[in-house]
Amino acid sequence: MSHDLCLYSKMAALSPVLVLTYLSYFHSAVLSFPLDQQSHDTSSCGYKSCHATVPNMLNVHLVPHTHDDVGWLKTVDQYFYGGRNDIQHAGVQYILDSVVGQLLQNPERRFIYVETAFFYRWWKNQPPSMQKAVRQLVDQGRLEFVNGGWCMSDEATTHYSAVIDQMTLGLRFLNDTFGPCGRPRVAWHIDPFGHAREHASMFAQMGYDGFFFGRLDYQDRDNRIRTLDQELLWRASESLEPPYADLFTGILPNGYNPPKGFCWDQSCDDAPIMDDPDLEDYNVDDVVQRFTVAANSQAMAYKTKHIIMTMGSDFQYENANLWYKNLDKLIRYVNARQANGSRINVLYSTPSCYLQELHHSNLTWTLKTDDFFPYADNAHNFWTGYFTSRPALKRYERVSNGRLQTCNQLEVLGGPSSRKGPFGAGDSETLREAMAVAQHHDAVSGTEKQHVANDYARRLANGWQHCQVVVSNSLAALSGSSAGRIYCDNLNVSACPLTEASKKFSVNVYNSLARPVVWPVRLPVNASAYTVLDATGTPVDCQVVPMSKATQQVRKDRGYAVNELVFQAQAPPLGYSTYSVSVLQNGPPSASAKSGPPAAIENKFVRATFDPATGLLDSLTNLETQQTIKLTQNFYWYNASDGKSSISDQASGAYIFRPNSSSPFIISCTAETESIQTPELQEVRQQFGPWVSQVIRLHSNSKALEMEWTVGPVPIADGQGKEVITRLDSSIASSGVFYTDSNGREVLQRKKDFRPTWDLKQTEPVAGNYYPINSRAYIKDDKDQLTVVTDRSQGGSSIHDGSLEIMLHRRLLHDDWRGVGEPLNETSGVFPLGLVVRGRLLLSLTPPALAADAHRPLAQENVLQPLLSFTEGGPPPGSLLEFSGLQAALPPAVHLLTLSQWGQDSLLVRLEHQFQTKESKEHSVPFTVNLQKLFSTLKVVGVSELNLSANQWIDEMKRLDWRPKMALKPLRKPLGDPSVWEVILTPMQIRTFILRVAPRR
Ligand SMILES: [Zn+2]
Repeated sequence: MSHDLCLYSKMAALSPVLVLTYLSYFHSAVLSFPLDQQSHDTSSCGYKSCHATVPNMLNVHLVPHTHDDVGWLKTVDQYFYGGRNDIQHAGVQYILDSVVGQLLQNPERRFIYVETAFFYRWWKNQPPSMQKAVRQLVDQGRLEFVNGGWCMSDEATTHYSAVIDQMTLGLRFLNDTFGPCGRPRVAWHIDPFGHAREHASMFAQMGYDGFFFGRLDYQDRDNRIRTLDQELLWRASESLEPPYADLFTGILPNGYNPPKGFCWDQSCDDAPIMDDPDLEDYNVDDVVQRFTVAANSQAMAYKTKHIIMTMGSDFQYENANLWYKNLDKLIRYVNARQANGSRINVLYSTPSCYLQELHHSNLTWTLKTDDFFPYADNAHNFWTGYFTSRPALKRYERVSNGRLQTCNQLEVLGGPSSRKGPFGAGDSETLREAMAVAQHHDAVSGTEKQHVANDYARRLANGWQHCQVVVSNSLAALSGSSAGRIYCDNLNVSACPLTEASKKFSVNVYNSLARPVVWPVRLPVNASAYTVLDATGTPVDCQVVPMSKATQQVRKDRGYAVNELVFQAQAPPLGYSTYSVSVLQNGPPSASAKSGPPAAIENKFVRATFDPATGLLDSLTNLETQQTIKLTQNFYWYNASDGKSSISDQASGAYIFRPNSSSPFIISCTAETESIQTPELQEVRQQFGPWVSQVIRLHSNSKALEMEWTVGPVPIADGQGKEVITRLDSSIASSGVFYTDSNGREVLQRKKDFRPTWDLKQTEPVAGNYYPINSRAYIKDDKDQLTVVTDRSQGGSSIHDGSLEIMLHRRLLHDDWRGVGEPLNETSGVFPLGLVVRGRLLLSLTPPALAADAHRPLAQENVLQPLLSFTEGGPPPGSLLEFSGLQAALPPAVHLLTLSQWGQDSLLVRLEHQFQTKESKEHSVPFTVNLQKLFSTLKVVGVSELNLSANQWIDEMKRLDWRPKMALKPLRKPLGDPSVWEVILTPMQIRTFILRVAPRR
């Protein structure tokens, strides 16, 4: 997308305050503003465009809609064009063509559209006359955007940073194209398989007035139908002051489908309305009668005189005439009965028009503070498998997020010269768009067909190619050296042609965090000794170790190194440091591995002991706090149900986790071990059999114990699908309680066999206790907290006291009948016998009161790990070997969540307080950041604040207010900023700014 300036001028016109701040800027921006968009009239869109309802009647809001997956059974391109209709009949371009034509025919009709990834593709292919007509439909509220992100994101396996980015991308397009009438009022997640509290919190902060979804646990739904609580107020943050994270939430009556018998799409078989009384098949009386029954029965489950009916489903409205012709008649014939005393009024409507009526009802609503996980559609059908499905794609998505943030930052720091070359040219997809597509609820979730998963990965890889151009340009500009840069994308399996072959090379370590980091660099090499110099020319400690057999096995022929060079790199905040590496002739031999387990590995901070008989971990000690727990760890697999024993039997599949026994099988009671112990690095390498190995590792200054696991190919010759877990068993008295994060942010308490808002009848003792872990999980008692930080989204639980298990990999032989139509049985060109997956868990043991101080920064470093780039030979003379884009590091609690170019001389910046209230004595307090003292190379000359999704000025964000069914505490007044440049962040707060900048001399 282009960096145009439309958003400013639109907003400036509405905000006199901003005009004062930015006067000179807006003066120039307005000049570039397309004239036809200045005439946007908001008086006839949004809530003002709703059809009138009738008091004292049951008002039935018909919402014509289509649910267009941004990839699932077909790729996003195939869905857009209608390719591969042999897999599934679906073509989004035809849907939009057809719907727009039908809307233009009759001003009463309404339609909502959700996925901007598709709408954007369609829009740019339309002639100006069609664009003009569509603008008018939007201005009159006849075509309404809901949700409006690039896609409808998954909620269990996405990271908040990527969700905010994908929403920003979609909403910016709508804002730039349609102005205020294009701004969605309602969040709409009709299909995701369970709902995360952090998503609700984000939607509230994005300015949505309400949220609707379709899927929740069947017991929860039954209960809510009984108590008329299908509409509620979700208080989605324990840290943010109400009502900032309060979101009105509605559960749709029928998933997102029409009531039975009223589907008039070309894909449905329901009878059309046949209304010529002279004809034999005349059925108006029958249709009206059935509709009246359906409406009255639905009304019994809701509180107000308004109900909503979702008239559409997956990829419907390709021939919209069928739907609209019948809906027109339905409205006419049902409402005609009012003359005979009927109390039903049917109307074309939208989710926001329905929401407005609920708001007018002036009721109070029950307050919910937990989340909607896990989701079960029946007693043995828990959708908890997808928390882990396709673990390699989940990791690639997470890595790609880090790369995108790096790319965005370096585009800013390197200035205009970073945009030279192929980046941005042509219409190939950027990493920003590829990441946005990957957030879809059948993408990172792992619930797509194999060829679609390959397509998502290809998009991310292509996007990364674009990004590399920006990164190289920017680093060249910042360092003054245009030496060719190489990126080694296979370092996770220790393959990198340059470091394997070269006798002298440099490593640039770019750190995207706003504080300095120390990061262990591990490179494949062939010599046995090296000299490593830092940016000042000072030698740094390094170690050469033999490459493990396990790594050589997964590397295959992608590299040929026999050793690995390990050293700790330090990188400044928002900047880089360059290390020079050269072979040391006649140096010491590389470290050698000793067979058998060591008694212990330790550094200044941590000691881990091992059982000499089994080779397994035995205990963990925090040497600073002098606390020790008993801790063993091993690998197991659940035997996946194959679903063959009866018709109602449920198999494990891409969505569903259903072990056929609650006891997992151990892979091996003992591990074959060898160890390496040097001052820089301590490693225990464990082999649990031909397809599971692990390295337990401590670097000289790490405070967490690293467990690098390698699992696969999962054997299936026995005909049994396997769901592989690692389990930590400790002496911690956790009493059935454990904790998992929500989308990588706030942490929720989980209790075994328990749901906070209803009496759970537990029917799946393992799968029914699984929750998504996005970046961390922990167990604790009064004294000890064991926290595990993960490197991707995974499912996990605590089935036994003191134990924490995490599902790492799944290989299944049957489809689970939820639509994808394939067993989750991943192979690849490199791994034809089954995918091998590698990842890391980071363990920290602390007193509970100090745990967040450790896991918050640790998780952040793991999500946004430094980017390494390499150049052959030493650094060119005169080049700048170290650079920081900040004047000073930000406090540990403050995270620079977003730094990206917005307009030609403006930036989008998000500052985040990454601690929850009360979780840290030191950090759970307000911090002030001075925006003018942020950047080292840029002067900040203007500032204004936006909502979280950057599509509305913060002072114009006026949301509908909803009253909970409880006494309200008087609200605390938010802390006022000391000045326009000094902004305060309170626990878990994210603030979004557009900064106008100029180069600093
Ligand atoms: Zn879907």
